[in-house]
Parts: sequence; structure tokens; C-alpha cells
Amino acid sequence: MTLTTKVLVAMGLGIIVGLTINLTGIGVEGSFIDEYIVGGLFYIVGKMFITALKMLVVPLVFFSLIAGVLGIGDVRKLGSVGLKSFGLYMLTTAIAIATAIGLAAVVIPFFSTPTASATAFTGKEAPPISDVLINIIPNNVVDAFASGNMLQIIFFSILLGISLLMVGKKAKSLAEGVEVMNEAMMNMVNIVMSVAPYAVFALLAKAVAELGLDLLAQLAVYVVVLIVALLFHLFGTLMFILKLFSGLSPKRFLTKIRDAQVFAFSMASSNATIPVTLRTVTKRMGVDNSVASFTVPFGATINMDGTAIMQGVATVFIANVYGVDLGISGYLTVILMSVLASIGTAGVPGVGLIMLSMVFVQVGLPVEGIGLILGVDRLLDMVRTSVNVTGDAVVTCVVAKSEDELDETVFTDVNAGLVEELEIDDASEEALAEVVHKVEKG
Ligand code: ASP
Repeated sequence: MTLTTKVLVAMGLGIIVGLTINLTGIGVEGSFIDEYIVGGLFYIVGKMFITALKMLVVPLVFFSLIAGVLGIGDVRKLGSVGLKSFGLYMLTTAIAIATAIGLAAVVIPFFSTPTASATAFTGKEAPPISDVLINIIPNNVVDAFASGNMLQIIFFSILLGISLLMVGKKAKSLAEGVEVMNEAMMNMVNIVMSVAPYAVFALLAKAVAELGLDLLAQLAVYVVVLIVALLFHLFGTLMFILKLFSGLSPKRFLTKIRDAQVFAFSMASSNATIPVTLRTVTKRMGVDNSVASFTVPFGATINMDGTAIMQGVATVFIANVYGVDLGISGYLTVILMSVLASIGTAGVPGVGLIMLSMVFVQVGLPVEGIGLILGVDRLLDMVRTSVNVTGDAVVTCVVAKSEDELDETVFTDVNAGLVEELEIDDASEEALAEVVHKVEKG
């Protein structure tokens, strides 16, 4: 069995176990199952795995970006990769939310308003655009790295890469070192991914066991419209964009993106999925690191198609509950605000709700309304994060293809870049030990 198959089986088993716990009620609060299995074992295994992936994000992005800048061949290319990916990220997000609002506005008014009890929710105001722009530059590099601020890390790493290029020949051995570190980090991704089946099982069993299924039924209109819009964007819009702009096969793409989607789904975080997305687009789809090292972490931060869709549907839904008519200009503001809000916010679990509150403040919808959908957000967060990550990979492939940085033989080869058995080659292990001893002896 390949790792992908194992992970998919684990996902299925996790859902079955979670549902069993949920439906039979054996996991009620305070019970043994709740305390030691769901809140104990599943929680610990899942959390350890997410933390391990998060641990990889900053060094991986740092080394792969510097290696990417050094390997790009022509620095001017950086500008065109940056502009193209930014443009496409904004475009896909805007299309995503426009379709979502369109669909929701047609379907939702036909259903009576729900009676779900609202949970208190306090919102947040959107930061001014000036702040979003200023915050791209780190005040303090150590702080940027310590807090994992993706845009700041990208900014500094690219600048360092360019500065190394300016050093020229003297930087050769360092460039080789960075390349080696990048490869080592990718191996670390393989190591962490090899335990994924257990972790995915634990993450899903816990999430499903804790789902409020009755709440899900009460909010069925919202949930169904949202999921339909997400699937439409995933299989329709995004695949159309991939085919139109790159000519690549959507079918092959969908087979290969599965790992990244499952990871995004189980963790509900585009940021934590960066290592897997980066691995998928470079090793499985043949995108050169010089493009992917930039577009993937950039996309995880600024591109959130799935989240934008949720904002569109949620706005229509809650406006309907409160009987507010936003009108065309209101909806246009929602589109603009959602696109802007996605730029400054990181891809971490539940951030979509915070963005939604920014949108609500802007268009004058009651922020407490978000309390209505709070209870079902966890599941929807998982689905929309998979869409977010798929969008990042689509744009990465399109930009790479247009820059002639995509190896199509890798893309079409079904088996390219599958995670193999982890092994350390004995001969190279000995050879390296010898080198180290020699250096130590002077
Ligand atoms: N969890 C999402 C992500 O990481 C963001 C959100 O929609 O809450 O991409």
C-alpha cells in the first residue's frame, strides 16, 4: 500500500470510529472514552503530529526560498512569479466568493430561518490596509521567525537570497550548503509524513466524535449550500483555470493533490500543510523549487478560496436570518473585504470566523450572528482548508508552467515522488562519517 492509500484508509477508519463514539453517546463529557481516548490518546497523537509539521514550516520555507532564489537563474523572474501568483490568487479568491454569494442568494431565501441557538461571539475590526502592507517587513527577524509570520519570513528570505547573489562566487559553498539543508528538510517532511496514517486517524476520530451532529442538521441549509459551493469551486472553477492557463490534466492533478488535501482536511490549517503542499507540487507534480518555494507559503497566507466561499455563504445566510437586505453594493463590499482580509491573515484553524467578523463590521451586519454558525465551523473549516490548499497548488502549477519551470514528465508520471521507504544508505553513511572524522582531526 502507498502512503496515500494508507492515509485514506486511516481517514475512513477515523470517521467510522468518530461516528460510532458520537452516535452511541459513549463519549459523553466526563466518560472514560471522552477523557482517555478522545481527549487523551487521540488528542495527544493528533496534536503531536500537527506540532511536528508546524516545526518544519519555518526552516523549510527559509531554506527552500533561499535555494529557490539562488537557483532561479535570473532575478527578474522573481518579479514575474510574484506578480503572476499575486494576481491569480486574488482572482481565484474573488471568483470563489462571487460564486458563493450568487449561489447562496438564490438558494437560501427559499428556506425558513433556522432556530439554532446562538453562541456569543465577539468580532474584530479589520486592520487598515496600511498596516497590512507595513507588516510585510519584519521589525525584528528573530521575532518574525519565532512567531512564524509567513509574509515577513518570505520577505527576509528573498532579500537574503538576493544579497547572496550579489556576493557572487564567494557564496558558492554556502549555496551548496543551503541546497543540502533544503534536501534534508524535505527528508524530514518524509519522516513526519510516514507516521501520518496514525495521526490522521486520531485527528479525524476526535473531530467527528466531537461534532455536534444535531446542530449540523439544524443548520443543514447553510452547511449544504456551503459544501456545494466549495465542491463547485474545487472541481469546476479551479480545474477550469488549471486547464485553461496551463493545459495540464485536471484528472492527474486531482490524483496527485490528494495527500495535501487530506492533510489540510485533518489539520484545518494551510500553514501546517505547507511542508506537504511543497513536497506535493515539487516532487509529485514537477514544479521547480524556484517557483514553488515562493508560491506555496505565499498562497498559504494570502490565498483562501475556501474561506472566501464560506464568508459569502455565511453573509447571505446571516443577513437572511436577521432580515437585512445588503443590496448589490453591500455584496460588492463583502467581496472586496473578503479578498483583502485574506491577505493579512494566516492560514490557521478557525481564522475564517475572524475574517468574517471583519467583513460583518464593514457591511454593518450584527457580529453576534456569527454565533449561529460557530457550532458547525470545525467541520466546514476542514473542508474549506482543503480547497484553500488546492487553490495554492493550482496557481503554483499555472505560474510554473508559464515560466517554463514545470517538468511535465514528472507531472504525468503517476508514481513520481511517492513517499518511499525511509532508509539511510550504509555506504554514504560511512563515507560521511569519514569526512566528519577527517575534519575533526584537522
Ligand atoms: N483554516 C483555514 C486555513 O488554514 C482558514 C479558515 O478558513 O479558517 O486555510
